[in-house]
Amino acid sequence: MFEREEKIPEAEEILAETPLPAPLKKVKAERDALASSVIRGETDKLLVIVGPCSAHESRPVLEYVERLGRLNERVKDRLVLVPRIYTNKPRTKGVGYKGMFTQPDPKSKEDILKGIHTIRRLHIDAIGVSGLSAADEMLYPENYAYVEDLLTYIAVGARSSENQMHRLVASGIELPVGIKNPMSGSVPVLINSVYAAQSGGQVFKYQGWQVRASGNPLAHAVLRGAVDGYGNDIPNFHYETVMKVIEGYAAAGLANPAIIIDANHSNSGKRFKQQIRIVEEVLNNRIYDKDFKKYVKGFMIESFLEEGNQKEDVVYGRSITDPCLGWADTERLILDIAEKV
Ligand code: PEP
Ligand code: MN
Repeated sequence: MFEREEKIPEAEEILAETPLPAPLKKVKAERDALASSVIRGETDKLLVIVGPCSAHESRPVLEYVERLGRLNERVKDRLVLVPRIYTNKPRTKGVGYKGMFTQPDPKSKEDILKGIHTIRRLHIDAIGVSGLSAADEMLYPENYAYVEDLLTYIAVGARSSENQMHRLVASGIELPVGIKNPMSGSVPVLINSVYAAQSGGQVFKYQGWQVRASGNPLAHAVLRGAVDGYGNDIPNFHYETVMKVIEGYAAAGLANPAIIIDANHSNSGKRFKQQIRIVEEVLNNRIYDKDFKKYVKGFMIESFLEEGNQKEDVVYGRSITDPCLGWADTERLILDIAEKV
């Protein structure tokens, strides 16, 4: 049984209550166009989605994105920076902290309505202080509508990429949607997910309506490494494994075939400092092979003010989910990527 705790207003109502102010709407439209142009291959710039694994508190996230906004000024002719502001977290065992959407204050109990207002405020303020609009994970497709006017990049997580509803909603979005490889690492499943998200004309129930989705040519693959049947991490950022995805793309004949390399998760085995080496290796492969260069259009990096992670929110600006690079390493790495594009 489900105990009804609180009625949550429809997304339309909430969006009308807390709209994105017009000047920031313009900023977001510009950022959307830039990120989309990378996926379409209209520019040589690389897309870098960078920020904490989860945004558990607004203040350090705003401080982080403000720094990222300043850094963006130094690299904007080479890179398109998109802050990770992830407000919904999938959990490996299903239980535990589920993100700001569900639990706006990690130290007190769940409060979804407050969570919705908190994440909208955070995304809006983040655009205001940094001039950058963010990425968030569409963990619950029905909740995407609460932030659909605020994001520039939408991620479909590894545990969701085989899910029909995620694929259907992704197919109606007109922005880059990065679909992670499934936990198994299956390339055919990944390519099928991108295929589904790119396919138009699918009819389903969404936000109280029967809708027909347009198909999303900006849906693309994100490689995050896999986990084998014994729980071991298997990286998939190496040249040979990326080429397998490129072959899969070519065989499927998809639009805008793009690959983003997620440097953390099962690629680093969550040894967060390894993200630096992984990015460097991928950059090197881009120099070496022109196909690899054409397909690999960016990185996802987990980074926060303070490096590592912590079980509870004690140290300001340190992740309470996956371990992250600290700011100094992040700044060096981003400047280095810009140099080697
Ligand atoms: C993440 O990006 O923090 C995440 C949870 O990724 P994945 O779905 O790849 O585990
Ligand atoms: Mn993570």
